[in-house]
Amino acid sequence: MNVHEFQGKEILAKFGVGVQRGIVATTPEEAIAAAKQLTEETRTSWYVIKAQVHAGGRGKGGGVKLAMSLEEVARISEEIIGMQLVTPQTTAEGKKVHQVLVAEDVYYPGNSEPEEIYISILLNRTTGRNMIMYSTEGGMDIEKVAEETPELIFTEEINPNVGLLAFQARKIAFNLNLSGLAFKGMVKFVSALYKAYVGADATLFEINPVLKTSDDKIIAVDAKVTLDDNALFRHPDFAAMRDIREENPTDVAAREVGLNYVQLDGNVGCMVNGAGLAMATMDLIKQAGGDPANFLDVGGTADAARVEAAFRIILQDPNVKAILVNIFGGIVRCDRVAQGIIDAYKNMGDAIQVPIIVRLQGTNADIAKQLIDDSSLDVQSAILFQEAADKVQEAL
Ligand code: GDP
Ligand code: MN
Repeated sequence: MNVHEFQGKEILAKFGVGVQRGIVATTPEEAIAAAKQLTEETRTSWYVIKAQVHAGGRGKGGGVKLAMSLEEVARISEEIIGMQLVTPQTTAEGKKVHQVLVAEDVYYPGNSEPEEIYISILLNRTTGRNMIMYSTEGGMDIEKVAEETPELIFTEEINPNVGLLAFQARKIAFNLNLSGLAFKGMVKFVSALYKAYVGADATLFEINPVLKTSDDKIIAVDAKVTLDDNALFRHPDFAAMRDIREENPTDVAAREVGLNYVQLDGNVGCMVNGAGLAMATMDLIKQAGGDPANFLDVGGTADAARVEAAFRIILQDPNVKAILVNIFGGIVRCDRVAQGIIDAYKNMGDAIQVPIIVRLQGTNADIAKQLIDDSSLDVQSAILFQEAADKVQEAL
């Protein structure tokens, strides 16, 4: 699950990571009130107004602006709230901005050379360990740095048994060319950041920029935070941060009915029970000359209601030309599943306009096949994997 910048900073602050102070606002009036409050708390008189959308590159798209007075706070937030923000990371259509973060300006006036540092934490899938990636070349052009001068990006891998060690935190501060107060500040910053990453069950932290202020403080100015969906039950306060306005509507619908669904760009929809079988089914579709339109694991209870919900979700994708249902009846009996498919199909009337191939294997598979064949619906049945593949091929 992705969260907004202001929420990401809230999570970081909970774990003692230094962040730029800010308050979220949904109207220009709220933005002015937020700015006044920030002035009371931090004595700042300049502010940055930042569009809150789930996309990076906001600075380049005009979604991050400096306001040097309350009048400018009002004018800029008026301009940003409600706009369609187009950035290098959005579609051409952009994303609608519902709220802005009003933050204290931390690039103090007179601070001609603010140091923008890049720090991210993510899993290295090759070694199975978390790693911290960092660079002195933070800021809005980090992608260019990665492409043209990758030697300027360092990595530090963390042993999960002991966590981030003190010498590693010092090495990072050293490689970032910091000294004195800023060096100490960075050691504290990365240590807290790593604790936050593990403690929040995150799958990605990207803090770009981390700023070294002119008075040598180290603070997070931006925060891209992705949390592990499977661990959200441990963090009800973070789970409540979900903003479904930012998410794919099909994904939202699938989650509401408890289906594991990932949309892909192929033409054969699939409905399978069990993630392993789903993967194998996607391979099968490929071999049959198709391309999977989705990954969908209906889980253990393939009853009529769930099957119907799954059909509806698959059919929201206009690219789907056929649906392959591949269910292994172990604990769940195949005849029950077949009845579920028949009921769902009847219930949906004309909503199903594509051929459906059903392969049921396991307990009562033969009874299930008979049920489907006798149902007089436009559903083809198969028991063997290969039969199902051949039928998919014919259907395309
Ligand atoms: P992104 O473009 O979506 O990654 O948004 P960021 O939060 O990284 O902001 C983009 C840029 O805005 C930063 O790289 C900074 O150069 C600038 N910026 C952010 N906060 C401040 C601030 O407090 N003062 C000033 N003057 N600029 C800021
Ligand atoms: Mn950024």
